[in-house]
Amino acid sequence: MAEIVIDSIAKSFGTAVALREVSLTINDGEFVSLLGPSGCGKTTLLRIIAGLETASSGDIRVDGKSILGLPPKDRGLAMVFQNYAIFPHMTVAENIAFGLRMQKADEARVKAQVGKAAELLHISQYLDRYPNKLSGGQRQRVAVARALAVEPSVLLMDEPLSNLDALLRLEMRTELKSVLQEAGTTTVYVTHDQTEAMGLSDRIAIVYQGRIEQVGTPVDVYDNPATRFVGGFIGSPPMNFITIPVADGVAGGQPVPAGVSGEVVMGLRGEAVTRTEDTSGLPLQINVVEPMGATLLVTGTIYGQMVRVSLPPRDTVAAGQTIYLAPDPTRLSWLSPETGIAYQ
Ligand code: ATP
Repeated sequence: MAEIVIDSIAKSFGTAVALREVSLTINDGEFVSLLGPSGCGKTTLLRIIAGLETASSGDIRVDGKSILGLPPKDRGLAMVFQNYAIFPHMTVAENIAFGLRMQKADEARVKAQVGKAAELLHISQYLDRYPNKLSGGQRQRVAVARALAVEPSVLLMDEPLSNLDALLRLEMRTELKSVLQEAGTTTVYVTHDQTEAMGLSDRIAIVYQGRIEQVGTPVDVYDNPATRFVGGFIGSPPMNFITIPVADGVAGGQPVPAGVSGEVVMGLRGEAVTRTEDTSGLPLQINVVEPMGATLLVTGTIYGQMVRVSLPPRDTVAAGQTIYLAPDPTRLSWLSPETGIAYQ
């Protein structure tokens, strides 16, 4: 069990800045994702925690003690990578035992821990097999079992599911969540997949251009994005942004935060609208209708700006039609057109 404090970590590669004074506290037993687009610095931060990369400045403390001076093996961490690197010449049991053997654990502990980890990941029946006789999902389970077998105080994972196909990914995601909940391991998880981060995390840190844009629970970052980047990155489809003039504290028929004038950006979640006959609603000129089964995905324009909204699945709308939408006022975000930062 461990609390991790990331304190003003900065990292440059020559003149390229990868991390700009990043600070984040991960609580004991918490699952935190570092989520962001390619090149934002999330892997670099994970590698600095692991000791595979050195920071240019700042500190990382685990349970109050700085770990930056320690070699990776003495940090009490286990890692699972994207290419999960299990050893092809070792059986599943030998693979899972690997970390324990490195620690020179006695035979009784190795046996007990291998059995426990294999059971947790539902691979007990494959202990004598070699990896080439396993499916991708089973191999991934071996990699996770190997990491958990040493009972690490912290588990670091870098895109561990990205080599799996979509269905298996979903299955493994649910399983991983269940396993880690049971183990209670403090976990830092790197991903660029927002659905994965939403599904797994207690909290998500959204990383962009070497900075943490926002940290919050999945629902918090979804409902109250701090910036336009966050609203556009979290959610599928992403949040809609409509720039509208403000007159007398009202924009698009909705009251705006106090003191906002000129123009404002309305942040509108596609499912936070209902269709209305009231022509003072937001006018949506429909371009494309996609029946997704659970919802009707409608793409069009509001005040000339492209939006995507979800309507009830059996609603009847057609391309070329104009309909009116009433947004749920409690679910709107308002952002500055200049800075992209949300008004609170
Ligand atoms: P991805 O999802 O593509 O792995 P990322 O968010 O994990 O992206 P990082 O790998 O942390 O991003 O890289 C952050 C920045 O630092 C990038 O601009 C990258 O090119 C740069 N960088 C990373 N490692 C090195 C290195 N060893 N030498 C030089 N530049 C590097």
